[in-house]
Amino acid sequence: MGEYILETCYLLASICYILGLKMMAGPKTARNGNLLAAGGMALAIFATIYLYQDDLNNKLGNHLWIYSGIIIGSLAGWVAAKKVQMTAMPQMVSVFNGMGGACAALISLVEFPKALEHIGHGEWPVLFMATVLCGLVIGSVSFSGSMIAFLKLNGNMGKDIRIPFYNIINTFLIFGIIGLTVCLAGGHITDHNQFTMWAWILLAASMFYGIMFVVPIGGADMPVVISLLNSFTGMAAAFGGFLYGNMAMLTGGILVGSAGTILTVVMCKAMNRSLTNVIFGAFGTGGKSVAAKTDGAQKTYKETNASDLAVLLNYSQKVIIVPGYGLAVAQAQHVVHEMEQLLNDRGVEVKYAIHPVAGRMPGHMNVLLAESNVDYDKLVEMDDINPEFSTCDVVMVLGANDVVNPAAKEDPNSPIYGMPILNVENAKTTVVNKRSMNVGYAGIDNDLFYRDKTAMLFGDAKKVLSQIVSELKNL
Ligand code: NDP
Repeated sequence: MGEYILETCYLLASICYILGLKMMAGPKTARNGNLLAAGGMALAIFATIYLYQDDLNNKLGNHLWIYSGIIIGSLAGWVAAKKVQMTAMPQMVSVFNGMGGACAALISLVEFPKALEHIGHGEWPVLFMATVLCGLVIGSVSFSGSMIAFLKLNGNMGKDIRIPFYNIINTFLIFGIIGLTVCLAGGHITDHNQFTMWAWILLAASMFYGIMFVVPIGGADMPVVISLLNSFTGMAAAFGGFLYGNMAMLTGGILVGSAGTILTVVMCKAMNRSLTNVIFGAFGTGGKSVAAKTDGAQKTYKETNASDLAVLLNYSQKVIIVPGYGLAVAQAQHVVHEMEQLLNDRGVEVKYAIHPVAGRMPGHMNVLLAESNVDYDKLVEMDDINPEFSTCDVVMVLGANDVVNPAAKEDPNSPIYGMPILNVENAKTTVVNKRSMNVGYAGIDNDLFYRDKTAMLFGDAKKVLSQIVSELKNL
């Protein structure tokens, strides 16, 4: 009877994951979707603790260890999620992902003794062994890779590190790892001690591969790599689910694995890069800035100020706001919403143009603006908003740079050539707010700043927007 209830709980948990994931696709339902998926996970965990029985009808007895783990993990996760800055989200995702990979690898290590019992006795369990080893390899790669990603994103390690011949070393490593896995899973090593030694070598090689795989990847590509590592962790967890015959773990792992893969593909598309290019190529300029095409001419730009802009906005009919990474850094999401409401009250139509890779992680801008209760209907995706720029009076580019760089359309030599961008230059007036003429994440100059219809508004986004708000209130 208990077994049926347990299976039903796993089924319900899987349904919660699937519905939760579906709800996460829209900003209105994302929060509830997250809660639903977490609820499903809690159901699966507690059902396992109280209802699971092994072949000899033994229940899980080590409750002190289990609850200590749950309490420590929950507290650490809660504190980290509460304290994290919006701009440090990718780092946090990367650490959490690494923990998932480490868990999957540990599950495999724990299961080894069972497989070793078969050496010399009865038929060799190829499928079981292959599952254990795949979990070990993928989990270890995901763990060490995610830790390196964390160090790079957190600024503890150089962004663009080139290891000589890393492609050759990595190719040898990957073929060595595959070969050893096949050899061990196929039962070609029959000595108990030898088998254990080679399994530990496999673990070490996988960890090393994770490091070698992530270290050379360029700074701007890190979120793509995190998403790829995320899909690895999902796969490793799915192997664990298969190993234990645990349907909730299997479904969860498959969902994480496929969602991570889809996200990786979507991000590559939004940056117009292939996955091979992300893994084997270098993006950006290694920190050096690259000038926009000048044809030898001295470039000049126009400047504006908060009070002039407030007047211009006040008499506009349609304004489009383009949020970028700088808006998140400045924590200006609340004041931009206040400005939008003031303009709305005066009959100005205001929309937000959301580029798929604005910021430093997918959905960064949506989450940021949702935090300040911006109406979701005002957030318009790139493909839908692009035709609207030509019909608007003012575009306000707030702390965005690469996602509005016309070089992506016009300069075949630009590192971002081919990346779809927001066509802000089509508006009657484009105002760009940033602190200086410095480059954005891709490290390249932006010709938009020097165009006739563009005016620069220098200063921290929060400070400048607060000034505009007070000017608007006085008008
Ligand atoms: P960018 O990094 O191109 O530009 C941000 C700009 O914000 C900078 O030029 C900076 O200029 C300005 N800025 C920084 N702080 C402030 C502040 N306090 N107030 C006002 N402005 C500020 O950001 P975008 O959002 O345009 O582009 C995102 C980049 O990240 C793209 O290159 C994209 O490919 C990359 N990326 C994004 C991913 C994602 O998933 N979202 C994934 C991988 C990469 P200044 O210093 O002069 O102030």
